[in-house]
Amino acid sequence: MPADDSPTPARTAPGALSPDTVAVVAGRPPRGPDAELNTGVSLSATYVGGGALGTGELGYGRFGNPTWTALEEAVGRLEGGHALTFASGMAAVSAALHLLPAEGTVLVPRGAYNGTHALSALLAAQGRLRVQHVDVTDVEGVRATFEAMAVAPVVLWLESPTNPLLEVADLAALAALGHEHGAVVVADNTFATPLLQRPLDLGVDVVVHSVTKFLSGHSDVVLGAVVVRDEELLAQLRRHRTLHGAVPGPLEAFLALRGIRTLPLRLERSQASAALLARRLVDHPAVTRVRHPSLPGDPGHALAKEQMRGFGALVSIEVAGGAAAADAVVDAVRLWVPATSLGGVESLIERRRRHPGEPAVVPEDLLRLSVGVEAVEDLWRDLSQALDASQG
Ligand code: PLP
Repeated sequence: MPADDSPTPARTAPGALSPDTVAVVAGRPPRGPDAELNTGVSLSATYVGGGALGTGELGYGRFGNPTWTALEEAVGRLEGGHALTFASGMAAVSAALHLLPAEGTVLVPRGAYNGTHALSALLAAQGRLRVQHVDVTDVEGVRATFEAMAVAPVVLWLESPTNPLLEVADLAALAALGHEHGAVVVADNTFATPLLQRPLDLGVDVVVHSVTKFLSGHSDVVLGAVVVRDEELLAQLRRHRTLHGAVPGPLEAFLALRGIRTLPLRLERSQASAALLARRLVDHPAVTRVRHPSLPGDPGHALAKEQMRGFGALVSIEVAGGAAAADAVVDAVRLWVPATSLGGVESLIERRRRHPGEPAVVPEDLLRLSVGVEAVEDLWRDLSQALDASQG
């Protein structure tokens, strides 16, 4: 990548540890002779009385757990806030959506993750909230939506880059706009990870993660997290987790923290490969469109360069010949795994519209590629032969 086209380098305050180091050191037990290096898997369903029960943080296995605490310290330090871990990314999404008072309105990106669409639609059908879809690449359009709304309060839900269109939202501008209108601003940071962008630094109130993805990184864990700076929001989200009960398993928390140790290395490799594949895919005759913020022609390129510290490891492509040709590519790959999910060490490929709930703005022939850490030339050989084969 030419030097002038690189994203913003990491901003580390003088004397502060680099995020790459935080990923390695955070959430360890106190150092001392013969102290354990790793926080273990804590398997107690309850704790002996006299401790932290009154604080709501320990006392019983649904209130807290030392392995969660270790993971939360790492995720919190990386995002720059207080983290709470949940049983899945969707449990974290649900907790954040429930910050909305009854019958409030949530503004959801038109191309957001389909689970977020499905859950907000379900809650709307139950009369719990109202939903409006917005184009998060259009700040003035979101402003117009806010101004046309008769009733506050609202949650402004952001995702950047979005899943799977890889649209880039101006998080700082949208957070400021949301606050002007009294909204709680939530950003799903699953695709970027805190190594590439820290939404709380840009004014966002609540960060949501599917920890299942890059943070864990090995496709062996389902887990989620929310991160906030505000103590009142933290208390509300903790109460939600305790009472709705979508708590993480201690083994999953352990595995996720182990995954975070190598996140900087995995991400560096994956996103470098993603950018190289994106450049080559632009010239492949079977590909009609490539979406990756690294590409100078991508609509999100300039903003991503400013807002992010890397362009990420997801690439979306559209295939000549429509959905049938896209399915043929998925059938023809041998190294790429045809599977949903993303952010693991293994490269995955999926036609997103095969999911009935996928938003209609996602083209039928769109393939989402989650680039793993395999040798990039092996990935390219496999993908390019499958694209050739799809054209019959
Ligand atoms: N947010 C995004 C952007 C996702 O891609 C996903 C899952 O794919 C989720 C949230 C939900 O996470 P989980 O599958 O861990 O429940």
